[in-house]
Amino acid sequence: MNYISTRGDVVHSRGHTHGNLHANTHGSFINHTKSAKYFCDILLEGLAPDGGLYLPQTYPVLSEEELANMRDMSYPDLAYEIMHRYATDIPAADLKEIIAKTYTAEVFGSTNITPLRTLEPDLHILQCSNGPTLAFKDIAMQFLGHLFEYVLTKRNAEINILGATSGDTGSSAEYAMKGKSGVRVFMLSPLGKMSPFQCAQMFSLQDANIINIAVRGVFDDCQDMVKAVSNDLEFKAQYKIGAVNSINWGRIVAQVVYYFKGYFAATQTNIEKVSFAVPSGNFGNVLAGHIARMMGLPIKQLIVATNENDVLDEFFRTGQYRPRKTAETLQTSSPSMDISKASNFERFLFDLVWRDPAVVRELMRKVEQEGGFDIRQCPYWSRLPAFGFVSGTSTHADRMRIIRTTWEQYQIEIDTHTADGLKVALEHREPNVPMVCLETALPTKFEASMIEALGRKPAPRTGFKGLEDLPQRFQVMDIDAAAVKRCIAAVVNT
Ligand SMILES: *Cc1c(COP(=O)(O)O)cnc(C)c1O
Repeated sequence: MNYISTRGDVVHSRGHTHGNLHANTHGSFINHTKSAKYFCDILLEGLAPDGGLYLPQTYPVLSEEELANMRDMSYPDLAYEIMHRYATDIPAADLKEIIAKTYTAEVFGSTNITPLRTLEPDLHILQCSNGPTLAFKDIAMQFLGHLFEYVLTKRNAEINILGATSGDTGSSAEYAMKGKSGVRVFMLSPLGKMSPFQCAQMFSLQDANIINIAVRGVFDDCQDMVKAVSNDLEFKAQYKIGAVNSINWGRIVAQVVYYFKGYFAATQTNIEKVSFAVPSGNFGNVLAGHIARMMGLPIKQLIVATNENDVLDEFFRTGQYRPRKTAETLQTSSPSMDISKASNFERFLFDLVWRDPAVVRELMRKVEQEGGFDIRQCPYWSRLPAFGFVSGTSTHADRMRIIRTTWEQYQIEIDTHTADGLKVALEHREPNVPMVCLETALPTKFEASMIEALGRKPAPRTGFKGLEDLPQRFQVMDIDAAAVKRCIAAVVNT
């Protein structure tokens, strides 16, 4: 499988484009890239050189027979069946071994990995949050940890992952990469701004390859510091700086798997259709659902649920895409969805515009120079229903109500993010179509909100008792990119 950039892999001269938003080209676009790129190449690369995102040249479509064979597969077998179609440059035995190491009952709590929990007939929750950091990101990140180690060992290379986190991503990355050879993680977080549980999770790690840096500032300061370091191309190359952010293609592929798992668990036969509701921020999770659907999984609706930061909901309702400025991004009680610009959205956009990179370039130019775009008058807009996407927004009051009613009706505790998904799911439910709501985190992580909703603490998780009493290891830093560089140099050179 070859990978192409959503912007066509050409050098992009600013302000000049051949994209025509009103063209209606039905022909499939043939991308003449200079050199073929494979899964392992783009794994460590991040953005394509032209600023676009990588996607496979085509989506492998499964035959009826293949889909039928997948129905009773174990999670690792299912994962292999999907991933080998994208990672064609990894020998089968090696990929199987990486997958077998990743998806174990020991790490994810059960051999099912993502068990389905039924609230009532045709209303389910897919439990994706039973990994080490109690959020769905572990499913992809744990895979990435083993995959990085494999690729780096093969290439006799190393990587220094530099990131900023407000909570979930950082801890998920650290638990995936700890103790892996060839990898170090430098993770910046805002000093005193994460929940006590999140701090304890990250800072109690004692592994030498995990370096926690608490910054005297807010999350955006951390992110600016990461950008400043990454923009120093000489330093970046010398110290092999990389990232594991949500545009990483390896993460997306790993997420495709649980849509299949959830579909088979919610149905008896492959002629049934299922809808999925997805609490969304960077559009990584629901993009994986889109890909599963393009591969032929019978998905009816893909329901994009946002919180008060409703950029995506606005697009799917109105055709207008207007990313917010950082200062306009609200802090909510579902903080992992507090995103102003959905970094994976461009991948869906590419499919929506018949994979014409000139159109993507023009639309992204509008985002950069005019603050957004509006495709209501374009033929692309009328295509949207064919992709199954619908959307909705959930507010703080909605979350609190849904957490309460879910407890009262089903005696099940859900976290604030999952509640956003369930709220919007209920608005789009259709008779006789099973609705699967993706659970993206467990309530333990967001104790204060759970107390507000239920008047008590959520049920404690086994295995995490005493976490907050463990010794913590982190260094404190001022808002100073040079200090981050000194820290990286010091660690790498010892
Ligand atoms: C990351 C995250 C999300 C958003 O997922 P995207 O892939 O960024 O859309 C939702 N809920 C939780 C708990 C998360 O950690």
